[in-house]
This record gives sequence, C-alpha cells and structure tokens, in this order.
Amino acid sequence: MTTRNTGRVELMRAGLRAPDLVVDSMGAGRQSTAMLAMGIAGELPRPDVVIHADTGWERPETIAYVDEVIRPRCKAAGIPFMVVSNGNLREDMLRSAREQTRLASPPLFMDKGPGKRVSKRVGKLRRQCTGDYKIVPIVRAIRGLLGLRKGQRAAGKFHVVERIGIAAEESKRATGKIEHQWIALQYPLVERGLTTADCIAALERLGWPVPIKSACVGCPFRSPASWARMEQDNPAAFADACAVDAELRADGNHLQGTTLPAYLHRSLVPLAELDLAGVDLAGAESFGGEC
Ligand code: SF4
Repeated sequence: MTTRNTGRVELMRAGLRAPDLVVDSMGAGRQSTAMLAMGIAGELPRPDVVIHADTGWERPETIAYVDEVIRPRCKAAGIPFMVVSNGNLREDMLRSAREQTRLASPPLFMDKGPGKRVSKRVGKLRRQCTGDYKIVPIVRAIRGLLGLRKGQRAAGKFHVVERIGIAAEESKRATGKIEHQWIALQYPLVERGLTTADCIAALERLGWPVPIKSACVGCPFRSPASWARMEQDNPAAFADACAVDAELRADGNHLQGTTLPAYLHRSLVPLAELDLAGVDLAGAESFGGEC
C-alpha cells in the first residue's frame, strides 16, 4: 500500500504503531465523500484504500456518483477503490416476506394492532441491515487485502484504521464500536468539528459535485420530506419503494419470526397512500438515525 499517508507519518512521529492499512468507508454521501476529497487534497490524512459497500438498493443517483465521480477521482489520485457487497437488501426483503427466509432487517415498522392510536400500535424491528450489508463485506474485503484466509486470526497481527465520515452534528453515531479488536474506527470529521455544511463547502471548494444523501431507496429512516423529495426528483425510485412496501404485506406475506404486517413508514400507512402533498422539503437530505 502507499506510503504517502500523512496520518501514518504523524503516528510514527508520536511513537505509536502505524496502522497496516487505513481504509475509508465510502457511503458516497456528502460526509464520506468530503472526507475523501479532503484526503486527496491533503487536508486530511490520505487513505490507503476506499471501500464502498453496495446494499443492492442504492439510489440510482448514488450509483452514478460512485461510477462517475468517486471511482475516477480515486484512480487519478492512485488510491485503490473497491465496491463490495453481501447480497441485495431489496431482493432479500421480498424473499423473506414471501418465503419467511432469514433477513438482516432494516428498522421496519410493524403494526401491533388493534388500537386506535398509531403511536400505541407501532413497533419497530431492530436494525440489522447495516451490519450484514455494510460492515460484513467491508471487513471481508479488508481481510482479503491483508491476505488473510478464511478463519485466520487478524487480532494481534494487524492494526487497521477504518475511517467513517460522520459529521460533527451527528457525532452520537460515532460510537467507535466494532466487534473486531484489530480494527480501530476513526471519525476525522467529528474530530475536527466539521459539520455537513462544512462538508458541502469543502466539496464545492475542491471542485467535487455535491452528492445526494446516501441511503437505501426504501430506508425506513427516511423522513416525510425525504420521501416527498424522492417522489419529486426520482419518481421511478419512489414507485419502487412503494411496490416493495406493498409486497411486504401482499397475500398474507410476513417476515420470518412474526405475523405482523410490516411498513416502510412509521404512520403504518402504505407508502403509495401517504399524503406527501405540501410536505416542507427542508431537511429532506438530513433524516436522522441512518447508517
Ligand atoms: S440506509 Fe437504511 S435500509 Fe439501508 S442499510 Fe442503512 S439503515 Fe439499512
């Protein structure tokens, strides 16, 4: 891997063990892209490799941004860029609803009915999708880069830094938790107090197009503003989310381990019937809790 990593040099000067690998986890939204842009420009330590985990249900705009912006700019900078995957979240959800197969579920909303008030009826599945569709394939790719075979221990042999692009105002998401001791999570944007507005400013200053927020098409974390924006800007993607939402409950479909109907929206209203007219689009790109 490259030795042109200023973070590595800083660590060595401080007498700390330099990581064997510095990996940027690339969501392809504004925060992780700004982290990369600043890394390439020398405003942040440079990563050794950039890895994007594709859940299989990324927005078309995100896929295009990865192919047209991130991939060529990594190539021009001499930084290896990988797209990895651990299945297709959209297809796995549909299969689970029809055949009750195992699903690393998104935080879907469940109707516990009966009851008049939606707030009393609504339940939420634990979010497992981030682990299976993002963390697992990235760790697998890192192991491959280190030349580790299946089952071979990394702990005690390797020290990897994985950098996550989380902006300062979302610092509560920067938990530092990962089940692998040999991977240390770092949050360069949080450490420097850089907000999403700072990220957008950095992208513009460095001549990078500003991407949309990265999240799965049907992510249940989406706010009404985010759904309304998608319906307006990409009706095909919105129609796809509506179709998947309906299929979760069609013909008695239900997910493994429950007979409760599942919804993408917390109102327990089918997405296609949600009244999005007049929804204020402000904040459409900043719904919280996402991965
Ligand atoms: S964006 Fe949403 S649905 Fe997609 S992996 Fe993250 S939490 Fe799950």
